[in-house]
Amino acid sequence: MRRFYLEGIRETDRLCMLTGSEHTHLKDVLRLGPGEEVLIINGRGLELSAKIMESKKDKTMLQVLKAREGLGESDLNLSLALSVTKGLKAEWVIEKATELGANEILIFSSSRSVAKVNQVKEERYKKAGISALKQSGRSYLPKIEMLESFEEALTTANGVKLLMHPGGVRFKDELREIKEKEITIFIGPEGGFSEEETGLGEKHGAKLVTLGKRILRAETAALTALAIAQFELGDI
Ligand code: SAH
Repeated sequence: MRRFYLEGIRETDRLCMLTGSEHTHLKDVLRLGPGEEVLIINGRGLELSAKIMESKKDKTMLQVLKAREGLGESDLNLSLALSVTKGLKAEWVIEKATELGANEILIFSSSRSVAKVNQVKEERYKKAGISALKQSGRSYLPKIEMLESFEEALTTANGVKLLMHPGGVRFKDELREIKEKEITIFIGPEGGFSEEETGLGEKHGAKLVTLGKRILRAETAALTALAIAQFELGDI
């Protein structure tokens, strides 16, 4: 069944209304009409089945039928902390990280990031997350946070902090030591983390870990690390 995102919907709502891009998608792209059933999700665990009552030019009215159990989330609380770099396909990484079950995505500037964090991009990042949320069948939208510095990312990050860095200890070996169910994976910019940054990371308790001897692009490193972590400690 097709899924639509409506941030404000609550379990007690009996009627709801889709506007904007969700309405356009339902009516003009998927050409769904009165009588058809869809799912409405709020990105915070709620999933409701609903029947289309009326679709007008700018809005669709729906009648809520019943609450459904959303797809189970992984019991690994997985976060990604990503350094923004010019040319980084951040939206693509956010989309894929959402599919891989990340619960939180921290976007930060580091000393070698050419790009700076930009609040204007935040909406675009959220959109990428919502689109992956709908596609993947998850019920939780990862929290996306834009941070000014690497240090802020280190203090915001939850659980075991793993800094992806060529030359660190083997990721596989490090994961086998972890008993916690909460980890944050840090990915550096194109130029890598500076020595000062790896030192700062270690001061905050982060471990330097490597994904092997080949240098991966930041996008590849991020998705590889998330998938491996979900495989070793989560639900892949
Ligand atoms: N020239 C940089 C590589 C940057 S690649 C250097 O040598 O450090 C961008 C980011 O991807 C890195 O900061 C790191 O977080 C991650 N990455 C790429 N290849 C990796 C590998 N083999 N092991 C661990 N992390 C890697």
